Amino acid sequence: MPATACEFDYDYIVIGSGFGGSVAAHRLTEKGYRVAVMEMGRRWTPENLPKTNWILWRWLWRPGLALRGFFNITPFRHALILHGCAVGGGSITYANTLLIPPERIWDSGSWAGLAPWKQEMPRHYQTAIRMLGVTENRILGPADRILRHAADVAGIGHTFYRTQVAVFQPPEGEAGGKTYPDPYFGGEGPERTTCIGCGGCMIGCRFNAKNSLDKNYLYLAEKHGARVFEETKVVDVTPLNGQADGRDGYEVRTAKSIAWLRRAPKRFTCRGVIFAASALGSMDLLFRLKQKGSLPGLGDQLGQRVRTNAESLIGVRFPHGSEDLSKGIAIGSGIYIDQDTHIEAANYPEGADAIAIIVTVHTGGRTVCVRILLWVSGMARSMLRHPIKTFRSLQPVGWSRESLILLCMQTVDGYFHMRMGRPWFWPFRKVLMSYGKRVPTFIPRANEFARKVAEQVGGTPMSMVTEILFDVPGTAHILGGCPIGGSRADGVVDHRGRVFGYRNMYVCDGSVLAANLGVNPSLTICAIAERAMSMIPSAAEKQWDDAAEECAARG
Ligand SMILES: Cc1cc2nc3c(=O)[nH]c(=O)nc-3n(C[C@H](O)[C@H](O)[C@H](O)COP(=O)(O)OP(=O)(O)OC[C@H]3O[C@@H](n4cnc5c(N)ncnc54)[C@H](O)[C@@H]3O)c2cc1C
Ligand code: SF4
Repeated sequence: MPATACEFDYDYIVIGSGFGGSVAAHRLTEKGYRVAVMEMGRRWTPENLPKTNWILWRWLWRPGLALRGFFNITPFRHALILHGCAVGGGSITYANTLLIPPERIWDSGSWAGLAPWKQEMPRHYQTAIRMLGVTENRILGPADRILRHAADVAGIGHTFYRTQVAVFQPPEGEAGGKTYPDPYFGGEGPERTTCIGCGGCMIGCRFNAKNSLDKNYLYLAEKHGARVFEETKVVDVTPLNGQADGRDGYEVRTAKSIAWLRRAPKRFTCRGVIFAASALGSMDLLFRLKQKGSLPGLGDQLGQRVRTNAESLIGVRFPHGSEDLSKGIAIGSGIYIDQDTHIEAANYPEGADAIAIIVTVHTGGRTVCVRILLWVSGMARSMLRHPIKTFRSLQPVGWSRESLILLCMQTVDGYFHMRMGRPWFWPFRKVLMSYGKRVPTFIPRANEFARKVAEQVGGTPMSMVTEILFDVPGTAHILGGCPIGGSRADGVVDHRGRVFGYRNMYVCDGSVLAANLGVNPSLTICAIAERAMSMIPSAAEKQWDDAAEECAARG
């Protein structure tokens, strides 16, 4: 006997409270459904956010080592992945920059031709922009001014732009730090305080100015009845009553994410499930569920075509610079050095120098062997010739005040794949592992630009240690792995985010994206989630059994 809606603990369980999960929770609650959100990370407020990232246990997420922060770094052979983990997902640690990608991203990849994307997406982008309170950055900091000057010198000054940011900025002519009643949702939202341009966005805004998801989508979802279970990791999802396609609903099992011993296992039932645990989180969970037989029908495209947004993190340190580069919104401006290559100026706040541990002196060299040789000889030469300058460039104290981060992204294609395996150095547990062709670590034109900026202002070009020594690019924009496709043969979900082979089951996060966007991805993740949720009927319509159809019509 199929269960009736009221026999379930919830109508929908959303796994993960980041961009995709918060949109899903808000829209489903609005449609009259009973919604629970399971979130592995903790809830952060201005009172418990760390003042600096040297307070590692409140910055980094590695609960096995008693690090219970909101920022995670996961190394793979093909990329060093930076990602968020909190109530509000990556929005707690992200840099608030929300840009619409070029239209051509819809023309390639497994999603091409599956929906009239170019006609439909603009309205979903506009909804996400309104919900997230996105406006043009009015607070240019010293890092933005250096970028603008360097672009002028390089003859590409016309491409300089102020970023679109999800920050509550003060009105023209007024200083930041003033509190206003809800400025965004006609009084339904929380009161907010205007931005003071401290540059702290990436270690969490302690001034109530950043429009993180707990101030908009998730706030409204909770206000209208969604229940958020924090520090709760989903460990199993199985169809009820042995119905292989989930037509009778699902059982969701959870465990306490920060506990070492008492993991407080819990069981919930629901009619539908939304996987929104991020590209890495959803891939990890879905692989485990497929392999242990909980969801054996998941498509073989799981883990395929994982993208890094062709991102490369470089920068320049000015050890004796007179300006404090830590000031201004975390990503305040950008330029285009060619049609495919986009660079943004980013900064960390004063005192948040711990990130310097993964940074070193930049060097040229297309292949990793040449790069390492150049790096070793360059370091040795520099140590002998300018020991004090070299030491000052490498030691972390003062790094944020003295450093301009250049965040480089490209729309060019390139991907690797993920699978579950046992690493040779730790064969006791299966973990996600990357494989396949490498994505480029080295973006010559961007590196050349960083070198020129350094020369102009007397600084040292910098790069991530992993990019130089291991040929592994760093990225905060991991995408794909559960791609949108026309059938199980080329995707895990259809164009509405519905999982092939299961009813009332969706994936709604960065894992469904099927192209390198060349711009920061969170706005697109929200817009795709808005589109998927807009197609779910309201609770009053009682139309369950929503299932993906294989679509032959590929353009
Ligand atoms: C330092 C930094 C700066 C960034 N800046 C920008 C920027 O300026 N603009 C931009 O567009 N993007 C930025 N990004 C990227 C952005 O944060 C991500 O693209 C975005 O958060 C991905 O959204 P999502 O919905 O896929 O997942 P997320 O927002 O990552 O949310 C997924 C959530 O699921 C939870 N989860 C995972 N597994 C489970 C499980 N089994 N059970 C329960 N919960 C689970 C995680 O804890 C996480 O909170 C930045 C990222 C970083 C790290
Ligand atoms: S610059 Fe400072 S005040 Fe403004 S949003 Fe970022 S952290 Fe908040």
